[in-house]
Amino acid sequence: MKVVVLTGAGISAESGIRTFRDSDGLWEGLSVNQVATRTGFGRNPELVNRFYNQRRRQLAEVTPNAAHFALAELEQKFGDDFLLVTQNVDDLHERAGSKRLIHIHGELLKKRCTWCEQTTPCDVDLSAEDHCAKCGREMGMRPDIVWFGEVPHGLERSYEALQRAEVFAAIGTSGLVEPASRFGAKAKVYGAHTVEINATETAKSESFDEVLRGPASETVPRWVARFAGR
Ligand code: NAD
Repeated sequence: MKVVVLTGAGISAESGIRTFRDSDGLWEGLSVNQVATRTGFGRNPELVNRFYNQRRRQLAEVTPNAAHFALAELEQKFGDDFLLVTQNVDDLHERAGSKRLIHIHGELLKKRCTWCEQTTPCDVDLSAEDHCAKCGREMGMRPDIVWFGEVPHGLERSYEALQRAEVFAAIGTSGLVEPASRFGAKAKVYGAHTVEINATETAKSESFDEVLRGPASETVPRWVARFAGR
């Protein structure tokens, strides 16, 4: 069985990481334009880096929940026939054991130089004034987060997997951020059975073959249990 799962901020909510849409379009009190666009970074790189530094530090205070672990279990079962595509920039999927994973919106634990585009691991606070270890230039270090208007990572691999998928699930995502919001429709066109797993109704709920409501820490393990014996 070929399975593709898309996750969003909702899967990490019960681990203590706030979602974006659930806080009135603000992410921890700041607007998308301030902290999630290239223009925002150009205007105030220190504010943007400070914002992501806080998010990165928060990772030490949170742990994966039952939903993250259940998806790692599903991967164990299906191996290369499984792909997890996450919009989350935290590392909770990895810490739960997921390996076949694409962070389409980037990762808090990586940094990128805006001059030479070199991406490297980052587990400390970042400042735009830091020098790039590769090209030596300063005033260009940013978190490796895909901001609005930028091209997501790993789209080609995601689309290939969606074409082959027999089952597609969208977990804890509002379905408002493109292109991930179109993954369900794409998978369906290619013949997959599509499932939405979310605490509440979303703009896309009606387009799924099946909808499971409730907190991810309960609904995801229940959904994963269906595959026992397959
Ligand atoms: P979103 O905030 O737009 O939507 C979250 C969705 O999760 C909502 O539909 C909500 O109903 C649902 N939800 C909330 N709690 C839930 C729970 N306990 N169980 C199941 N569902 C629950 O998130 P999005 O669709 O991922 O898009 C927002 C963007 O913001 C993403 O691109 C992401 O990169 C970024 N973001 C990431 C994180 C993170 O890495 N953890 C956190 C906030 C925002």
